[in-house]
Amino acid sequence: MPNFIILLGPPGAGKGTQAGLISESFGLSHISSGNIFRENMKGKTELGKMAEGYLQRGELVPDDVTIAMIRERLLRDDCAKGALLDGFPRTVAQAKALDEMLSSIDGRIVAVPYIKVAEDVLINRLSGRWTCRAEGHVFHEKHNPPKGVGVCDFDGSELYQRDDDKEEAIKERLTIYKKDTEPLIKYYKEKGILKQISCDKLDSPPEENVEKLLKVIGVKNV
Ligand code: ADP
Repeated sequence: MPNFIILLGPPGAGKGTQAGLISESFGLSHISSGNIFRENMKGKTELGKMAEGYLQRGELVPDDVTIAMIRERLLRDDCAKGALLDGFPRTVAQAKALDEMLSSIDGRIVAVPYIKVAEDVLINRLSGRWTCRAEGHVFHEKHNPPKGVGVCDFDGSELYQRDDDKEEAIKERLTIYKKDTEPLIKYYKEKGILKQISCDKLDSPPEENVEKLLKVIGVKNV
């Protein structure tokens, strides 16, 4: 039976970095909806052109587009054993659509780890974040600076500030998160699969959270 883990948390919680490390531990594919949108934008596909404005403004891409994209992605071979979902679902409608998709492939949600982070910490993290053009590696100008200014430590590519990491878009993303995504906390709590961890230190290394996350997910469960 395919096993799915849904990583839930506000923008700036460090989901991307942690999701990479956790999916490796469980041997699951890491499916990041944000990365899929950005790859499509880079490749100038129809989906990318459609999503671009929403991403730049920090708004959500409409549910029907996002759900269709994830459905197609989860049916590929590398998700046959399951996946770690990072950035999806982000609305209750998406969560319900996911439940339907999983029941059609006999999949199950093992756990929904939720990373709780205070708002001032999120704003500080996002506004200081720099992302590498090639692979999406992330740095923070104060708490996790790259060795060379403006250059990725891992692949030497240019670092840039995402449009949605600019101040106006950050505010918009946090407002939307509260309105559309926070209801998922209740949704999964009621199903008995929400596992909360807190992470309010600005400079805590991602590895520290990964340990906490692996513990709440329970390695035996996957
Ligand atoms: P973050 O978690 O830092 O906001 P992501 O990379 O997860 O960044 O998402 C970036 C953007 O991609 C979002 O602001 C939104 O525009 C779009 N997006 C990603 N996932 C979804 C989703 N599940 N539903 C709608 N839009 C999404």
